[in-house]
Amino acid sequence: TDDRLISSLAMKEDEDQTLRPQKLNEYIGQKDIKEMLDVYIKAALKREETLDHILFYGPPGLGKTTLAQIVSNEMGVNMKVTSGPAIERSGDLAAILTSLEPGDVLFIDEIHRLPRVVEEVLYAAMEDYVIDIVIGKDQQSRSIRIDLPPFTLIGATTRFGDLSAPLRDRFGVVMRLSFYNQDELGLIVKRTSSVYKTEIKENAVMELAKRSRGTPRIANRLFRRVRDFAEIIGDGTITLDITNHALEKLGISSNGLDHTDKRYLSAIIDKFAGGPVGLESIAATIGEEITTVEDVYEPYLLQEGFIKRTARGRIAMQKSYDALGKKYLKGLFE
Ligand code: ADP
Repeated sequence: TDDRLISSLAMKEDEDQTLRPQKLNEYIGQKDIKEMLDVYIKAALKREETLDHILFYGPPGLGKTTLAQIVSNEMGVNMKVTSGPAIERSGDLAAILTSLEPGDVLFIDEIHRLPRVVEEVLYAAMEDYVIDIVIGKDQQSRSIRIDLPPFTLIGATTRFGDLSAPLRDRFGVVMRLSFYNQDELGLIVKRTSSVYKTEIKENAVMELAKRSRGTPRIANRLFRRVRDFAEIIGDGTITLDITNHALEKLGISSNGLDHTDKRYLSAIIDKFAGGPVGLESIAATIGEEITTVEDVYEPYLLQEGFIKRTARGRIAMQKSYDALGKKYLKGLFE
């Protein structure tokens, strides 16, 4: 039931491959990550070696999958894509791994959701490029070892803390993606407008950037919606007026908060007197999964200072009261 427009979780229409940058120098933002990847890729190419295993983590929609594809392109290898929950048995993993060409990238999204038995098979695959598979049952069972081509595993996760230590330790490179600032989002919006061959005014670019929750996926999604309005009520050019009109109709406020953000903040403020309140109570109040609240909604609210996380729970900050048009009385009594 996730129909919220500003959700950073992927939706069908987001699978627009034309929007994905293909090379490192087309990828906007994440400067440190880009610089390091550039060095690792060049070094591996120079030594004609397989690239080390890489783990990308951070909230959804920030560009983890895109980066994995870029790494494959820059290395000049193919990328196979799968996800943690899709690999149910170790045989599934063996089938994928044995189908790789030397140097290929295997991308596992949501890698924290790999079943334990599969994860254990992955250890030796990552370390020694072999898999041990048990065939037969009970006394008849025996283990056979299969050699794999050298490959690069790229894992992506929104929950770094949910990865087991042995798995984490097998990644030579671990990189955390951060939210994008408005200038970077502005560049992404402009890039999208040129891919879609849609004209957009500079002030409309900045407005979209401001309202995208620091997330490229959301910027692109809002862009598509606003473009619809521009085509129907305007002459196709995206102006500031049309942008404001469309975003208002879509219920996205000027600070980028949407319905669910506001329900989250209003739960803390109205139901729990501004906090501190536990994550579980908030999730139950707004009827969302705890993990979704923690991975998708909270990171942005934390980073922007709408809420604070304390040992006793979440607290709504003055900014939240302002965003909801409520009086902030807390400071008076403390
Ligand atoms: P994640 O895997 O982290 O959920 P994706 O890699 O699927 O995120 O990115 C979501 C969308 O945002 C992609 O379709 C891509 O077009 C766009 N995008 C992400 N990062 C960037 C970037 N740095 N520059 C330009 N576009 C980006």
